[in-house]
Amino acid sequence: MPVLTQCPVILHSVIKNNDKAGDTMKRAMFGLVLGLFSLANASERLPIVDMHMHAAPADSQGPPPLAMCTPMPSPVWDPARPFVETFMGHMKQPSCDDPVWSPETDEEVLAQTVEIMERRNVVGVLSGTPERVSEWMDAAPGRFLPGLGFQIGGNREYSPELIAEMHADGRLAVLAEVTNQYAGIEPDDERMEPYWALAEELDLPVGIHIGTGPPGVIYLGSSEYRARMHSALTLEEVLVRHPKLRVYIMHAGYPMLDDLLALLFAHPQVYVEVGVIVYVTPRPEFYRFLRGITDAGYGKRVMFGSDQMVWPGTIERSIQVIEDAPFLSEEQKRDILYNNAARFLRFSEEDIARHHGM
Ligand SMILES: [Zn+2]
Repeated sequence: MPVLTQCPVILHSVIKNNDKAGDTMKRAMFGLVLGLFSLANASERLPIVDMHMHAAPADSQGPPPLAMCTPMPSPVWDPARPFVETFMGHMKQPSCDDPVWSPETDEEVLAQTVEIMERRNVVGVLSGTPERVSEWMDAAPGRFLPGLGFQIGGNREYSPELIAEMHADGRLAVLAEVTNQYAGIEPDDERMEPYWALAEELDLPVGIHIGTGPPGVIYLGSSEYRARMHSALTLEEVLVRHPKLRVYIMHAGYPMLDDLLALLFAHPQVYVEVGVIVYVTPRPEFYRFLRGITDAGYGKRVMFGSDQMVWPGTIERSIQVIEDAPFLSEEQKRDILYNNAARFLRFSEEDIARHHGM
């Protein structure tokens, strides 16, 4: 599974000195364009951005078919037997009535994913190996933004040079998903420093896994993973060192809400995304967490993400969770499903027009 100044006079002068008239105009136009599209297409198929997708082989999570319950029941483990038996038992003999079953072939994972994306008008940030990402992009032109599955210390570690080259060639739009947490590597680990510096220099958005993976993942092979690494505060030193970095926290630092709110308060450039927690967490609990973010005033920095992995059906169930949220206004739902990602990714007016016409 596959993170002010107290003086208004000083603040005002800082804003004034850093603001260029052109930028202000562009921002105003961007808001206007989104507003017009929302009005014009209120009853049509409005676009959705999924900030968390994976081009994954059908067997990447275990031998298919595998069931995903939405929500996923928390396992109860008797350590007399290996945890993997308990964990896989849920996926082979699910306890829910309507699990999403994973397809048996790679082709079917792709086909089902694209079918849902076309039907629901979804554009997605696609993580994976460079080969598989380009294969999926060829299969569905215009539906994906190329990402890269990245982790320090294994076969998913790519050199800064290669990343710069991919970005220059248009083969990398977002460096995501960075999954160092599974290897017990904190965001501010010195081995990550060249990558943060590069992303800042290239203005390349980064999505980093901070929050939940599979329950009990320490006992599924990620022996360095630690629960305390779910805290969004682990990202803080990176943000201070690289103030121009565009970064979003994949899995939203769940469940450590207070840490997340403190980070969002102190670092207004940071966005979050709700991949996997949106469909595995029981709705009352997910809604409590999401509402904690929106009630605190950060609704403009929450982005939709599914983290679909080998269960394409979870994309639509995840959209439904947002659409059903009783505490969100229609405007807040559109912000989460599209507008916030459009701003974070700096979509052009042409991009936005294309997404609305797809
Ligand atoms: Zn993840």
